[in-house]
Amino acid sequence: MGVREIQAKSILQKSGLPGADYVINPYTGCVHGCVYCYARFMKRFTNHAEPWGSFLDAKVNAPELLARRLAHRRLPLTDCVLLSSVTDPYQPPEKKYELTRRILEVLARHDAPISILTKSDLVLRDADILARLSDAGVGMSFGVADDAWSLRLEPRASPPSRRLAALRALRDRGIRVNAFVSPFLPGVSDIRQIVDALAGVVDAFAVEAINTQAGTWAATLAVIARRDRSLAKECNRLACDPQYWRALEMQARMLAAQAGMELTGFFHHRDLTGRLNVSPETPKA
Ligand code: SF4
Repeated sequence: MGVREIQAKSILQKSGLPGADYVINPYTGCVHGCVYCYARFMKRFTNHAEPWGSFLDAKVNAPELLARRLAHRRLPLTDCVLLSSVTDPYQPPEKKYELTRRILEVLARHDAPISILTKSDLVLRDADILARLSDAGVGMSFGVADDAWSLRLEPRASPPSRRLAALRALRDRGIRVNAFVSPFLPGVSDIRQIVDALAGVVDAFAVEAINTQAGTWAATLAVIARRDRSLAKECNRLACDPQYWRALEMQARMLAAQAGMELTGFFHHRDLTGRLNVSPETPKA
């Protein structure tokens, strides 16, 4: 899988996402290859013919561009910068390019509040920078807690067991950590297993139902069907069943309370009568 080096024209974008004032995407594309990825709409802004998940553009001038931008206009110290919304800032080529690390170094000079969202334990490499910031948080998403399912659904992301170990290690360094249970796949994701895994690691988590309207549902069901055809049929049926989602939300609240955690939100993509919602504005899974 080739990586194309590109020169970005801008790097710090205003964000409409909850909890983020700005967003930085050091790469275009994502080679983690999650089958359900909501960010694949970004492909139309590239000139790649390859499928989403099999190309990556590295914005090699991103750290210098950011440093120049912040030299001209400082960020208000209260404005939170999210890395990232339509790519993963710690996918494998980051080991070589260190774009995210060098961006963090620039942001650290301004002591900007930083929020990281990733599915990779490579984030541990940058714990030294994150630990010296006054306001830095790392979030990981867990659609499943099971490594074998993750390998099928998110083939090149760190397995959930390594993501959890990374969150634990970051927390032990005094860095704030959180979890996003997303996307929740009926019959495949196991809310009890996920809450058990998160207990003692994070204080709070949010859940997001799978978005069946993101253009990736058929491919996701096909991956599930390769392991268990009847489970895929059941997953499809439950995903459209408002009663299922209502019961799941109640169960998630109960399990969170039992584990001494807070459920900070439950994002539905249908209202509880079954009609499609306008999707809540949530970051990529
Ligand atoms: S869901 Fe996130 S980690 Fe997975 S391919 Fe998409 S951007 Fe990458």
